[in-house]
Parts: sequence; C-alpha cells; structure tokens
Amino acid sequence: MTASPPEPRPGPTPAATGHQNLDPHLDRYAARTKGMTASEIRALFAVASRPEVVSLAGGMPNLAALPLESLSTQMAELISEDGLSALQYGSAHGVPALREQICEVMALEGISAHPDDVVVTVGSQMGLDMVTRLFCDPGDTVIAEGPSYVGALGSFAAYQADVVHVAMDDDGLVPAALAEALSQAEKNGKRVKFLYTIPNFHNPAGVTLAIERRGEILEICRRHDVLVVEDNPYGLLGFDNQTYPALRSTDPDNVVYLGSFSKTFASGLRVGWVLAPHAVREKLVLAAESATLCPPTLNQLVVSRYLSTHDWKGQVKTFCENYRERRDAMLSALEQHMPEGCTWTRPDGGFYVWMTVPEGVDTKAMLPRAVTARVAYASGTGFYADGLGSRQMRLSYCYPTPERIREGVRRLAAVLESEMDL
Ligand code: PMP
Repeated sequence: MTASPPEPRPGPTPAATGHQNLDPHLDRYAARTKGMTASEIRALFAVASRPEVVSLAGGMPNLAALPLESLSTQMAELISEDGLSALQYGSAHGVPALREQICEVMALEGISAHPDDVVVTVGSQMGLDMVTRLFCDPGDTVIAEGPSYVGALGSFAAYQADVVHVAMDDDGLVPAALAEALSQAEKNGKRVKFLYTIPNFHNPAGVTLAIERRGEILEICRRHDVLVVEDNPYGLLGFDNQTYPALRSTDPDNVVYLGSFSKTFASGLRVGWVLAPHAVREKLVLAAESATLCPPTLNQLVVSRYLSTHDWKGQVKTFCENYRERRDAMLSALEQHMPEGCTWTRPDGGFYVWMTVPEGVDTKAMLPRAVTARVAYASGTGFYADGLGSRQMRLSYCYPTPERIREGVRRLAAVLESEMDL
C-alpha cells in the first residue's frame, strides 16, 4: 500500500508514540472520547505500507483505470466556466443537480427517491457519523452484523452506543439470529436504535444478503420497531453484472440509505450521501450543517459533471473487471496454498475475502510475524466490538496486482503453516 486508505488514515497513535501519559489535556476530554480508540487497522497501516510488504490489509480502491486526462480537462473547464460558484459555499443539503443525479444512480437498485430527501455528505463515513449522532444516546444499542465495518464501529463507539453483533452465513445476515437478538435486547430492557447492515459485498465478510432474505429482515425490523441503516458503497461492484434491490427500495419509510462515490468514482473527492425517510431529512440537514456547513462545492460539481459527461457506468464496469481479476487471483491462490482447516468466503463483488483459520491460531498475535514475512492482513478482532474475531482475518484484493496477491497469499500460507506447527 502506498497511499491513504479509505478507512481511518494511518498516523502515530498515542500508544505508538509513547506520549499517552504525557497528555496535559487528559482531564479535559469529554467522557465520550473514551470510545475513541485507534482502530487496529489504522495502527497497522504504517508497517503495511512498506513497499516490500504485500498488503492485503487495506481497502483502497484501485483508481488506475480512471481517465485522468479527460478528467483534468473537465476540471479546468469547470473552473473556467463555473469557477465562482464552484469555489463558493453551498447549501448543507448539497448541490441540487447532483442530488438529482444521485436519485438516478439509486434507481439502478430499484430506489425511487425525491432529490429533496438526499443529503450530500463528505463520504458515507460522514453519513454514518450523522446518523449515529441523530439516533444514539450513550448506552443505546445498535445491531450490526458480526463482523462489521470498522469505520461504523468507530462511529458507534464515539457516540457511546453498545453494539450487538448478529451472525451471518454465506447468504448474509441470518434473519432468525436477528429476530433472536432483538427479542433478547427487549428482554434485557435495551433501547435498540437501528440495525446497521451492509447487504451487498460486505466489508469485511465478502458475502451478500440473499434476495429472499431481504423482505424478511425488513419485516423483522418493522415488527420490533427498529430503523434500518443500509450502508451500500459496493452495491454496483458486482462481478456478474448483477445488482440487488436495495432494502430501501421496499421500505422507504423505515430505511436510511448510505451511498458513496468512493468506489464507483474517486474516494479522494469524499462525496457520499444519505437518503433518509422524509421525516428525518430536516434533522439530517441540520446535523450536516453543524458538522461542515456544507459539503465541498467543487467536489460535488466535479462528480456531477463526471456523471453527466462520462460513460460512468462503463467506468464502473472496467473497475469491476479489474477487481474480478484480482478476486480470481486471490481465490485460486488461497485454494492452492492455504493449509488444511482454513476456510474463506467467495465474494461475487466488492473488495474482500474473510478467512477463518484453524483453532489455536490467533490472527492478531500472528500479525507481526506475518509482517516480518512481508505480508499484511487485517486481523478479525478489529471488525467486532466485543473482542471476537481472533480466528479470522480480512484479505483485501482490491489494490495489489494479481501477481502481488498471489505472492502475498503464498507468504501468508507459509506463516500460517509455521504457526500451526508451534
Ligand atoms: N461503509 C463501508 C462498508 C465501507 O467499506 C466504507 C469505506 N471503506 C465506508 C462506509 C466509507 O466510505 P466513504 O466515506 O469513502 O464513502
């Protein structure tokens, strides 16, 4: 890995710099900052970014296929034709033309939305933060798949929400497990605020929620009066041209949908959005306003122009072809090299494979030895709020070349084998 990851950026953590106890402001921090700890993944990036290390750890989109020349022409045109408004403040709600285009993008997944109900955000990460801010008091409960997206767990922790994980299988979130978790939470007197779910090409699990399960999940949440937060940054990155109907498409009044251009266009522009139920939208705009005043106008106009002048769907197809080639390289290398007892998911899209290793191997403890052997992965524990995941790891195939992926998997298998001999 050579540049910034899409998840929390690398940087020295207090623990890493040894300054933890020297902070003169320690007594001043708000109580909620106790939940703010550097994710394990973040701590890893510094080592994983050394060029000799094959990093299967990060989730950086591979942007090499972007048409940089025509993008630079368009950006220059944008400044010369529309510079004064592009460089000006805008509304917290987002640029109206872009909100209309976002509705067209979501229509590909069966969503029928009004542009007024779309709020543009600084990446979907900001959407996650705002939604948690709007709904969660300290001690409230969020239900999330186990494992779940590390950046979402970070937002939940920052607002002091408790996370209850619900099991997945190869078809995604298990409805019976969800129903059981909700009943249990009710029995324990917990206030469950929402189900946070990544239905398509899950980060980190690599699985997709089966179509037959979607209605049932919505129905269970309705029955328990729990909102659904659908996080869908990978939905258009299916390898077989398949798109799944969004949860939001069937239950607009009970689903908050988070979208992003980070994986379909350019993560560095930081343009995402929230499609909220109509009643929630106003509060969302107020939350956005207090966080950023408005999302960057220039970046929104770049995205808007890109969507209206480029064959952006063709570009997404090209991205998918690249990722598919990398996925194939990873799956065949795993098949070839991994020792007996390892199992892994087989994603049909997105960026990630989730691997379970034999009992007795601790992926977190093994990581330094893997890095010494010049391969990095994300250990499973970072994807759980409750300390589980020590027999799992996330392997990302999105960024390295297929050759590097094969080499990385070969190195990882050797580390695992020696670990199993211990
Ligand atoms: N949700 C999920 C599931 C993700 O994987 C990511 C990025 N890794 C995000 C949200 C945040 O994406 P962004 O802020 O770049 O839109």
